[in-house]
Amino acid sequence: MSILRHVVASYRGSNDCTGWHMCQNTKCESARKDTERFIIRCVQAQAFGAELEAIERKHDLPRDSRILDLSPLIDDKGLLRVGGRLNKLKSTGLSSLNPVIVPNGHVAVLLVRFIHNKVFHQGRTITEGAVRSHGYWILGAKKLVSSIIHGCVVCRKLRRMPQEQKMADLPVDRLTPGPPFSSVGLDVFGPWPVVT
Ligand SMILES: [Zn+2]
Ligand SMILES: [Zn+2]
Repeated sequence: MSILRHVVASYRGSNDCTGWHMCQNTKCESARKDTERFIIRCVQAQAFGAELEAIERKHDLPRDSRILDLSPLIDDKGLLRVGGRLNKLKSTGLSSLNPVIVPNGHVAVLLVRFIHNKVFHQGRTITEGAVRSHGYWILGAKKLVSSIIHGCVVCRKLRRMPQEQKMADLPVDRLTPGPPFSSVGLDVFGPWPVVT
Protein backbone atom coordinates (compact mmCIF):
# COMPACT_ATOMS: atom_id res chain seq x y z
CA MET A 1 0.00 0.00 0.00
CA SER A 2 2.85 2.33 0.85
CA ILE A 3 4.42 1.77 -2.58
CA LEU A 4 1.10 2.18 -4.41
CA ARG A 5 0.34 5.44 -2.65
CA HIS A 6 3.82 6.70 -3.51
CA VAL A 7 3.30 5.78 -7.19
CA VAL A 8 -0.04 7.61 -7.25
CA ALA A 9 1.67 10.67 -5.80
CA SER A 10 4.43 10.36 -8.45
CA TYR A 11 1.88 10.37 -11.29
CA ARG A 12 0.16 13.38 -9.77
CA GLY A 13 3.51 15.17 -9.57
CA SER A 14 3.23 15.79 -5.83
CA ASN A 15 6.74 14.38 -5.13
CA ASP A 16 10.13 14.31 -6.88
CA CYS A 17 9.72 10.83 -8.45
CA THR A 18 8.06 9.94 -11.75
CA GLY A 19 6.04 6.94 -12.94
CA TRP A 20 6.08 3.30 -11.80
CA HIS A 21 8.97 2.39 -9.51
CA MET A 22 9.81 0.64 -6.27
CA CYS A 23 10.97 3.44 -4.07
CA GLN A 24 13.18 3.30 -0.98
CA ASN A 25 11.27 6.30 0.39
CA THR A 26 8.27 4.05 1.00
CA LYS A 27 10.13 1.80 3.43
CA CYS A 28 10.74 4.29 6.22
CA GLU A 29 8.78 4.30 9.47
CA SER A 30 6.97 7.57 8.80
CA ALA A 31 5.75 6.48 5.34
CA ARG A 32 4.39 3.23 6.78
CA LYS A 33 2.71 5.00 9.69
CA ASP A 34 1.19 7.40 7.20
CA THR A 35 -0.14 4.49 5.13
CA GLU A 36 -1.55 2.80 8.23
CA ARG A 37 -3.43 5.98 9.12
CA PHE A 38 -4.68 6.19 5.52
CA ILE A 39 -6.06 2.62 5.63
CA ILE A 40 -7.77 3.18 8.96
CA ARG A 41 -9.23 6.50 7.78
CA CYS A 42 -10.69 4.64 4.76
CA VAL A 43 -12.39 1.91 6.82
CA GLN A 44 -13.61 4.45 9.35
CA ALA A 45 -15.11 6.60 6.59
CA GLN A 46 -16.93 3.52 5.26
CA ALA A 47 -18.30 2.42 8.62
CA PHE A 48 -18.78 5.70 10.49
CA GLY A 49 -19.53 8.28 7.80
CA ALA A 50 -22.48 9.73 9.71
CA GLU A 51 -20.56 9.90 12.99
CA LEU A 52 -17.53 11.62 11.41
CA GLU A 53 -19.78 14.21 9.81
CA ALA A 54 -21.66 14.82 13.07
CA ILE A 55 -18.45 15.30 15.07
CA GLU A 56 -16.95 17.63 12.46
CA ARG A 57 -20.09 19.78 12.56
CA LYS A 58 -20.17 19.54 16.37
CA HIS A 59 -23.62 17.92 16.29
CA ASP A 60 -24.81 15.04 18.47
CA LEU A 61 -24.07 11.54 17.21
CA PRO A 62 -26.93 9.59 15.58
CA ARG A 63 -28.90 7.86 18.34
CA ASP A 64 -28.50 4.40 16.77
CA SER A 65 -24.73 4.78 16.37
CA ARG A 66 -22.65 1.73 17.34
CA ILE A 67 -20.00 3.95 18.91
CA LEU A 68 -22.29 6.19 20.93
CA ASP A 69 -20.96 4.78 24.24
CA LEU A 70 -17.33 5.47 23.27
CA SER A 71 -17.89 9.29 23.07
CA PRO A 72 -15.56 9.40 20.04
CA LEU A 73 -13.33 12.31 19.03
CA ILE A 74 -11.34 13.11 15.90
CA ASP A 75 -7.59 13.64 16.37
CA ASP A 76 -5.31 16.00 14.41
CA LYS A 77 -4.66 13.27 11.79
CA GLY A 78 -8.39 12.83 11.08
CA LEU A 79 -8.69 9.48 12.91
CA LEU A 80 -11.71 8.58 14.99
CA ARG A 81 -10.60 7.71 18.53
CA VAL A 82 -12.25 6.56 21.74
CA GLY A 83 -12.97 9.54 24.01
CA GLY A 84 -12.64 9.38 27.74
CA ARG A 85 -12.05 11.43 30.84
CA LEU A 86 -8.28 11.73 30.49
CA ASN A 87 -8.26 14.50 27.89
CA LYS A 88 -6.50 16.91 30.24
CA LEU A 89 -3.56 14.51 30.69
CA LYS A 90 -0.78 15.94 28.56
CA SER A 91 2.22 13.69 29.13
CA THR A 92 1.69 10.52 27.07
CA GLY A 93 0.65 10.07 23.47
CA LEU A 94 -2.90 9.38 22.38
CA SER A 95 -2.42 5.79 21.29
CA SER A 96 -3.28 3.69 24.34
CA LEU A 97 -5.38 6.25 26.26
CA ASN A 98 -7.52 7.09 23.26
CA PRO A 99 -7.29 4.02 21.03
CA VAL A 100 -8.20 4.27 17.34
CA ILE A 101 -11.66 2.85 16.63
CA VAL A 102 -11.48 0.06 14.04
CA PRO A 103 -14.78 -1.30 12.68
CA ASN A 104 -15.22 -5.06 12.40
CA GLY A 105 -14.05 -6.19 8.96
CA HIS A 106 -11.07 -7.30 6.93
CA VAL A 107 -8.66 -4.71 8.35
CA ALA A 108 -9.65 -5.71 11.90
CA VAL A 109 -9.01 -9.38 11.04
CA LEU A 110 -5.55 -8.57 9.65
CA LEU A 111 -4.69 -6.47 12.71
CA VAL A 112 -5.76 -9.17 15.18
CA ARG A 113 -3.87 -11.87 13.24
CA PHE A 114 -0.71 -9.74 13.18
CA ILE A 115 -0.86 -8.93 16.90
CA HIS A 116 -1.78 -12.55 17.79
CA ASN A 117 1.41 -13.68 16.00
CA LYS A 118 3.37 -10.95 17.73
CA VAL A 119 2.37 -12.22 21.20
CA PHE A 120 3.41 -15.75 20.16
CA HIS A 121 -0.08 -17.27 19.94
CA GLN A 122 -1.19 -16.49 23.48
CA GLY A 123 -4.82 -17.02 24.44
CA ARG A 124 -7.82 -14.77 23.97
CA THR A 125 -7.33 -12.44 26.96
CA ILE A 126 -3.68 -11.70 26.25
CA THR A 127 -4.28 -11.20 22.52
CA GLU A 128 -7.18 -8.86 23.33
CA GLY A 129 -5.02 -6.90 25.77
CA ALA A 130 -2.23 -6.67 23.20
CA VAL A 131 -4.65 -5.27 20.62
CA ARG A 132 -5.64 -2.59 23.13
CA SER A 133 -2.06 -1.74 24.07
CA HIS A 134 -1.14 -1.39 20.39
CA GLY A 135 -3.69 1.45 20.36
CA TYR A 136 -6.67 -0.10 18.58
CA TRP A 137 -10.25 -0.39 19.75
CA ILE A 138 -11.87 -3.04 17.57
CA LEU A 139 -15.66 -3.24 17.68
CA GLY A 140 -16.70 -6.76 18.69
CA ALA A 141 -13.08 -7.60 19.55
CA LYS A 142 -13.92 -10.44 21.93
CA LYS A 143 -15.82 -12.43 19.30
CA LEU A 144 -13.32 -11.64 16.55
CA VAL A 145 -10.27 -12.65 18.63
CA SER A 146 -12.00 -15.91 19.65
CA SER A 147 -12.85 -16.81 16.06
CA ILE A 148 -9.32 -16.02 14.84
CA ILE A 149 -7.73 -18.13 17.58
CA HIS A 150 -10.22 -20.92 16.79
CA GLY A 151 -9.07 -20.92 13.17
CA CYS A 152 -5.34 -20.44 13.89
CA VAL A 153 -3.39 -23.51 12.69
CA VAL A 154 -0.49 -22.99 15.13
CA CYS A 155 -2.86 -22.64 18.10
CA ARG A 156 -4.79 -25.74 17.04
CA LYS A 157 -1.55 -27.73 16.96
CA LEU A 158 -0.32 -26.38 20.31
CA ARG A 159 -3.57 -26.96 22.20
CA ARG A 160 -4.45 -30.34 20.70
CA MET A 161 -4.90 -33.35 23.02
CA PRO A 162 -2.37 -36.14 22.29
CA GLN A 163 -4.05 -38.95 20.37
CA GLU A 164 -4.02 -42.60 21.44
CA GLN A 165 -3.64 -45.60 19.17
CA LYS A 166 -6.47 -48.13 19.00
CA MET A 167 -5.11 -51.65 19.54
CA ALA A 168 -5.65 -54.33 16.91
CA ASP A 169 -7.71 -57.54 17.40
CA LEU A 170 -6.00 -60.42 19.25
CA PRO A 171 -4.68 -63.26 17.01
CA VAL A 172 -6.61 -66.53 16.83
CA ASP A 173 -3.83 -68.50 18.70
CA ARG A 174 -4.38 -66.42 21.81
CA LEU A 175 -8.14 -66.86 21.75
CA THR A 176 -8.57 -70.64 21.24
CA PRO A 177 -7.75 -72.86 24.28
CA GLY A 178 -5.36 -75.80 23.66
CA PRO A 179 -2.59 -77.92 25.29
CA PRO A 180 0.45 -76.01 26.64
CA PHE A 181 3.16 -75.02 24.11
CA SER A 182 1.02 -75.80 21.06
CA SER A 183 1.64 -72.20 19.98
CA VAL A 184 4.91 -70.65 21.16
CA GLY A 185 6.36 -67.21 20.55
CA LEU A 186 10.09 -66.53 20.98
CA ASP A 187 12.13 -63.36 21.04
CA VAL A 188 15.43 -64.25 19.39
CA PHE A 189 18.41 -61.91 19.40
CA GLY A 190 21.94 -62.34 18.10
CA PRO A 191 24.78 -62.70 17.40
CA TRP A 192 23.95 -66.16 16.14
CA PRO A 193 27.12 -68.09 15.06
CA VAL A 194 26.42 -70.56 12.25
CA VAL A 195 28.74 -73.61 12.07
CA THR A 196 28.71 -75.81 8.97
ZN1 LIG B 1 9.97 7.36 -5.43
ZN1 LIG C 1 -2.42 -18.75 17.09
